[in-house]
Amino acid sequence: MCGIVAYVGHRDACPIILKGLKRLEYRGYDSAGIALMNGDLSVYKRKGKVSDLEEFIVDKDVHGHIGMGHTRWATHGEPNDVNAHPHYSSSKRIAIIHNGIIENYAALKTLLLEKGHTFQSETDSEVFINLIEDIQQNSKCSLPEAVRLALHEVVGAYAIVVLSKEDQNTLIAARKGSPLVVGIGEGEYFLASDATPIIEYTNDVVYVNDFELVVIRDGELEIRTKEDVVQTPYVQRLEMALESIEKGGYPHFMLKEIFEQPRSILDSMRGRMIAESNHLMMGGIREFENKFVNAERILIVACGTSWHAGLVAEYLIEDLARIPVEVEYASEFRYRNPIISERDIVIAISQSGETADTLAALELAKSKGATIFGICNVVGSSIARATDAGAYTHAGPEIGVASTKAFTAQVTVLSLIAMIIGSKRGTLETTKLHQLMVELESIPAKVERALLLDVQIQEISATFKDATNFLYLGRGYNFPVALEGALKLKEISYIHAEGYPAAEMKHGPIALIDEHMPVVVIATKDSSYEKIVSNIQEVKARKGRIIAIVTEGDTTIPAMADYVIEIPETSEHLVPLLSVIPLQLLSYHIAVMRGCNVDQPRNLAKSVTVE
Ligand code: GLU
Repeated sequence: MCGIVAYVGHRDACPIILKGLKRLEYRGYDSAGIALMNGDLSVYKRKGKVSDLEEFIVDKDVHGHIGMGHTRWATHGEPNDVNAHPHYSSSKRIAIIHNGIIENYAALKTLLLEKGHTFQSETDSEVFINLIEDIQQNSKCSLPEAVRLALHEVVGAYAIVVLSKEDQNTLIAARKGSPLVVGIGEGEYFLASDATPIIEYTNDVVYVNDFELVVIRDGELEIRTKEDVVQTPYVQRLEMALESIEKGGYPHFMLKEIFEQPRSILDSMRGRMIAESNHLMMGGIREFENKFVNAERILIVACGTSWHAGLVAEYLIEDLARIPVEVEYASEFRYRNPIISERDIVIAISQSGETADTLAALELAKSKGATIFGICNVVGSSIARATDAGAYTHAGPEIGVASTKAFTAQVTVLSLIAMIIGSKRGTLETTKLHQLMVELESIPAKVERALLLDVQIQEISATFKDATNFLYLGRGYNFPVALEGALKLKEISYIHAEGYPAAEMKHGPIALIDEHMPVVVIATKDSSYEKIVSNIQEVKARKGRIIAIVTEGDTTIPAMADYVIEIPETSEHLVPLLSVIPLQLLSYHIAVMRGCNVDQPRNLAKSVTVE
């Protein structure tokens, strides 16, 4: 969480940093700050958005060719001006921006207090910078060396940048568990949490690895490990278009990303499947084909929306490939002494590829000898690099905090995986496989049609925008979609919502139903259609207000439901790719009508790099 950005070069640093912070604001947005070197080391910081910081510095001297900035997602200490980053050391000679958590900060702080260091904030980050200062004072070493030594003392996760008033031409950075990218321009360097603040200036980047120290001094980049071994930076060329990180005429990133789905779903299957020639291939799977074919079990670890995509995969893989699948919350899995063997395949799903719990869960599985497969959207991310093999979802940058196109891209990739393993294992016969391939190929066009429902969904949203609770029901492949629909609504509109398997409703949530309760029922024509029709009757009998998502042409449910949203027909295996679309639009419009900040919902951040 949180965004960090730094610059050194021939241009004025401040505008570049502020623009970069705005691009990173989706990662954390409770306060923002900047440090600039202009003979002195000036720090300006403010609670609130980057725009509040901009207002605050209008009349300040912000010139300088080297500087760093931060948008915070508070972990230690409430969001206020003092806890905002950058933080000075006690002497104010050096300053830090930090993304992550220093777990042993309390013990370090006690030691540093005894040695006379003073603290202004409640943050763990301020402890880190004082530790660096303390080491430098005691060992009389250079600042980069003091930072390197400090890395041996801290426990936790960090991406940091350090500036020193006494060294007006040096940027020092390091990472462990939080992302950090170096951008290499013509006579200039950038540092950022992800590539979005950088691509406007250069496509050449270096992804910093855990326990590496970066020193950019007098136009030279040097990377060494915390053990002091010099590394040769591996420069990669990014292929990210600037338009992909801008709103492109939409009022919010979330809406843009919802409407991008016909394209992003297509991109996630591009090169992997051509139905006409029965071509079905995924590089990451091919390498480990035998393992997949002979796997005794597949474990899926993920968090949030990715966990919902994992649940869809459980239905798909068990049905098409007949391999037992378990879907786990990464945060639970890693702490409960799970049974993992070398014959297991563990699939980690994460949009950002930086989700701390998912990363830790896969490291655990790796240590037990399981084969690790990653499904990530962000190229070069930590999970992508930590896995044995994997597949990128190719959905393009997702900036809206509430995930939309990443979910459908994950489900697309997981559908392909289930089809590939099923066909290799002989559990999915050729005709059915071909039908599924043809159907999957038609999904982008059907999503396009589902998006035409936008106007109708706006009207329904206006009716329900003041509701205080929502219930989402689905069965089979639509059960994870019910969970995802409820999560979307909670995240951005702050309306309490629960997703439930429709039949399970009778074991509790039915008690909540009365004439005030909107119940979204995903009731497409599939193998449990008759059953869900009965569930709708049960809700109706208790006066619940039914919003039904049905297959085009359905005549039974429209006779019972209060509102009906028709989506194109498809195979039940692929229905989540369509049935989720109206739910994304419903939560979006309700949130906008309630005046919520859709792209930056309270308390949330895009990539959850803390546990
Ligand atoms: N732990 C630090 C703080 O609370 C950094 C949080 C962040 O990553 O934004 O200030």
